[in-house]
Amino acid sequence: MSETVLAAVRTAPRTTELREFPMPEIPADGALLKMEVAGICGTDVKMYAKPVIAEPVIMGHENVGTIAKAGRQFVERHGLGEGDRVFVEHYVACYRCEWCRLGEYRHCEATDWRTNPDARRYGYTSCEKPYHLWGGFAQYLYLPWNCVIHRVPDGVTAELAGIATPLSNGIEWALYDTKVGFMDSVLIQGPGQQGLSQVVACKQAGASLIVVTGTAHDAARLELARKLGADAVVDVDAEDALARVRELTRGEGFDVVLDCTAGAGTTPVLLGIEALKRRAGTLLIQGELAAFPDFPLKKLTEKAITIKSARGHSYRAVELALEQLASRRFPLELLTTHEFGLADTDRAIRAVGGEVGDDVIHVSLLPWLD
Ligand SMILES: [Zn+2]
Ligand SMILES: [Zn+2]
Repeated sequence: MSETVLAAVRTAPRTTELREFPMPEIPADGALLKMEVAGICGTDVKMYAKPVIAEPVIMGHENVGTIAKAGRQFVERHGLGEGDRVFVEHYVACYRCEWCRLGEYRHCEATDWRTNPDARRYGYTSCEKPYHLWGGFAQYLYLPWNCVIHRVPDGVTAELAGIATPLSNGIEWALYDTKVGFMDSVLIQGPGQQGLSQVVACKQAGASLIVVTGTAHDAARLELARKLGADAVVDVDAEDALARVRELTRGEGFDVVLDCTAGAGTTPVLLGIEALKRRAGTLLIQGELAAFPDFPLKKLTEKAITIKSARGHSYRAVELALEQLASRRFPLELLTTHEFGLADTDRAIRAVGGEVGDDVIHVSLLPWLD
């Protein structure tokens, strides 16, 4: 093993520098992960443009790799050690609070950078903190005792495991948050990696009608939505979206609407409220907007709509996502469209932001790729 670790460090907004860090000394309760794939998502695009932390950060929060070195206590605690391929959740949890006890590490304060300045979260933590390697855009990642890891099933490649995050979000939001089930009708807005993962989760859960919306730029993604099981797709730029999606439910409206759009403002939420069934539908929203002018609260309550917030994933959802990937029931490898090496980290993030072309769905950063 070499003495230094190469990492792509975000040093300022939209600026990346390659830096070398010393190979960390691993304590008895820690481990070192040799990175294979770091997935990049829409959050990375936002955090790259407007970092929430001023200090230098190794980004990369959707990480898959093989344990290269593990202390004795780490192996005892996790039941995983050298040579095991694992998916690492980005939450570095306390393991003591009620949320951690429930496997809901996403809600643990120890990992919440919004309220806790000393929070640890992969891809969001200063590389000046001890052990330095707190992000996946690097050759190695440090795993402390309180990391949250999952064994990747045999037969699932690192590239495929790289989409465990969007898929576990899909399972969390569709299955657990909005309770999509047998014979439900679902409208999924936005055919990016997140929307496409919802298609798979809803199909597996038994939905009878899955409709996916996209824009004129989304032709290839909408095509893929069909391949993954969508019953109909709608180009909102070419058609009257509300009239078309209503018609697809024979005027009855949807049981569930999932908003997986990015940068579309208030439009998807307004469309969602209209497209839901007459009473007691469920709407999943993203927290993109700080405020929502003229929010139709009256209509929302008249229709007895439940709103759920898209907020990461639980431990259980990740386990199900990995099982889903291992089952090979859906051609999920079609999602992994682009690969970049460490030296091209800046370009990789820009690709997810749509600056490189229209055909990008999921981007994998492979830190060992030349
Ligand atoms: Zn992400
Ligand atoms: Zn906790």
